[in-house]
Amino acid sequence: MTRVLAIANQKGGVGKTTTAVNLAASLVHLGKRVMLIDLDPQANATMGAGIDKSKVKATVYSLLIGESSVHEVMVASETGGFDLLPATRDLAGAEVELVEAQARESRLKQALAPVVSNYDFVIIDCPPALNLLTLNGLVAADAVLIPMQCEYYALEGLSDLVSTLRRIRQSLNRRIEIEGLLRTMFDPRSTLAQQVSDQLVKHFTSKLYHTVIPRNVRLAEAPSYGRPILAYDKTSKGAQAYLQLAEELLARHNTHEVAHTV
Ligand code: ADP
Ligand code: MG
Repeated sequence: MTRVLAIANQKGGVGKTTTAVNLAASLVHLGKRVMLIDLDPQANATMGAGIDKSKVKATVYSLLIGESSVHEVMVASETGGFDLLPATRDLAGAEVELVEAQARESRLKQALAPVVSNYDFVIIDCPPALNLLTLNGLVAADAVLIPMQCEYYALEGLSDLVSTLRRIRQSLNRRIEIEGLLRTMFDPRSTLAQQVSDQLVKHFTSKLYHTVIPRNVRLAEAPSYGRPILAYDKTSKGAQAYLQLAEELLARHNTHEVAHTV
């Protein structure tokens, strides 16, 4: 069974793209077939996967507006070992182009249908907004993974996301659930980070990943080489943390599947 995961949080700079690229590469490392989708016009996931934006012919934009098929858009990330649906700046225009379109929130889901079963995981890097692009991501997804920085306002944005998910569940995608909350850029020496983390543990218990992603400069450096952390510095704390996250996710996923078959 394929698992489609949207990486979402309407706050920018919380580690969505870093998580999308490195979770994708870590799952590949663990033997899984993975597709990564860049839904952000900033195209950071595309660059982080080693794809030169200027050489990309078709993007998620042409997929959403129905100009290209998923096969025409897909490229291979050599540094990540996964397939990628790349983005460029033009994706920002999709919002306007799709206003009048039919089933505009379900465009991505429809476009993915022919290939989705070829993968164990499809990972969608959403933009930092609850806009039509993110909606397309959430409609296509089975579950959402929410990266969070443990800082003072972290929880505020979460309630907007949770109410958006509730609305989506009522209309466009009944099965969407929260896959898990991930603490990113964690600095154990910060008292505030520790306090916010304790709060998350209290509120979200089973939904919170045990794995915590530490602040690690190697994670910030890797994208400028077009590499996931595993292809840049495998021994770094950041690489080990994302591998551990992939393992935790697989362990949870397996329990889930067993629960469904019993
Ligand atoms: P988002 O996609 O949510 O906007 P990014 O993943 O692009 O966030 O991260 C924002 C910035 O922080 C980027 O420059 C990224 O390289 C850096 N970054 C992300 N995670 C970490 C980490 N664990 N340690 C250090 N830097 C990080
Ligand atoms: Mg991003």
